[in-house]
Amino acid sequence: MKSDRERIQFVLEFLEKDFENLSPGEWLVLKEKLWAFLHWYPEISGEDQEQEFNVKTLQKVQGETKDKLDRLAPTDAQQASQTSRSILWSLDPKKIRNLFFTLSASEPGLLPLYIESDLRDTFFFELFTALGRVDARYLRRCPVCLKLFLAAHGNQEYCSPKCSNRERLRRYRLEQQKKHTKLNKQKPLAHQGRKEA
Ligand SMILES: [Zn+2]
Repeated sequence: MKSDRERIQFVLEFLEKDFENLSPGEWLVLKEKLWAFLHWYPEISGEDQEQEFNVKTLQKVQGETKDKLDRLAPTDAQQASQTSRSILWSLDPKKIRNLFFTLSASEPGLLPLYIESDLRDTFFFELFTALGRVDARYLRRCPVCLKLFLAAHGNQEYCSPKCSNRERLRRYRLEQQKKHTKLNKQKPLAHQGRKEA
């Protein structure tokens, strides 16, 4: 999980997980990915970190992430493209131990690099710093399946070719229906005309 896009992609997958019904194998994979995302390393992860890896904590973080990202990418795409949006992240000051910053040789600003805190705050730190390094306006909601996705380019409206095709088919059917209704309306008139003749 190197790039910021990959990290955001992980969070979007995390949002779709049903933690109560994961197989032991899926738990292992999730833990490996989550630890990588949080910059937690198995060899140095303490008991606190292990204890936090449970259904209740993950569900809580998942719910809060949904709320926050809903604010960034509202259902109404029109509204999303025209308004500024803010989100609030209240941190637990008792749990934050350290916050590291870095000055890179290639970028001018001092950037937040790493936080030492509990699972929730580390998760949001990683998510928001990743979103800060990509074009976060590309985080969108698919109008067909309503899932959040990170667009590959500015014109991408749907999460996948599947949803884009579904929408195209829906529009096509609607058009056909309209044509059909029009024809039906015209028919009785034609019929009437013949009768009169
Ligand atoms: Zn979709």
